[in-house]
Amino acid sequence: MILIDAVTKRYPDGTTAVDRLTLEIPDGSITVLVGPSGCGKTTTLRMINRMIDLTEGRITLDGADIRDQPVNALRRSMGYVIQNAGLFPHRTIADNIATVPRLLGWDRRQAKTRALELMERVGLDPALAKRYPYQLSGGQQQRVGVARALAADPPVMLMDEPFSAVDPVVRKGLQDELLRIQAELGKTIVFVTHDIDEAIKLGDMVAVLREGGKLAQYAPPSELLTA
Ligand code: ADP
Ligand code: ADP
Repeated sequence: MILIDAVTKRYPDGTTAVDRLTLEIPDGSITVLVGPSGCGKTTTLRMINRMIDLTEGRITLDGADIRDQPVNALRRSMGYVIQNAGLFPHRTIADNIATVPRLLGWDRRQAKTRALELMERVGLDPALAKRYPYQLSGGQQQRVGVARALAADPPVMLMDEPFSAVDPVVRKGLQDELLRIQAELGKTIVFVTHDIDEAIKLGDMVAVLREGGKLAQYAPPSELLTA
């Protein structure tokens, strides 16, 4: 479980991005952070994998404070997917997906096999393995981003508006795919979006944030008050 315990983030310029946020994120569930631009969603994700430090409160992973863990091990246990996938433009699709396994010392052949397995898992034709990111559609690139994040089999996936840049039909396909992968692999997913419909569709729990990084609602989709 990831526990976000009364966490506040103030940036050096004095902006309070997250204000005494408490969330309990159980293993194997999807928690969606939703709210307008600037309400602290990305800041929250970045504190979870220690890309940035929190100001007050604490975050624990299975009971251990994340500040007490080596940051590399922590990040390896958390796949990260962003809008527009953030793929390496000069690497093939297979090499993009195999990035982390290669860093972990897998040999070339093992990493390639893993990349092809993952392409299949996220619904990509393995024939695309030798192409470069610019040769793929936006939706296909997002699938590569998901596959790359899954490559080292991390228990946690942090996803920051991963499907916002693709058209609605493709987005629906990606959402369905994510739910299928989640059902098969049981990852713990923290998913950020500004789209309440997406939050309701994907979330086991939905945290609605508002201006100033305050938690407005925290409930399963069926109990959410949508005004
Ligand atoms: P969201 O992901 O919900 O759009 P962010 O977490 O990106 O929100 O930002 C929350 C607030 O913190 C915003 O007011 C934003 O302008 C501010 N902010 C984000 N990054 C920084 C930074 N590096 N320095 C100062 N303020 C920041
Ligand atoms: P099934 O869901 O049919 O039981 P497995 O879980 O055994 O299948 O895995 C099917 C394929 O997906 C295997 O080739 C395996 O290497 C790969 N795989 C297994 N676990 C994961 C995981 N957590 N993330 C990504 N791929 C995985």
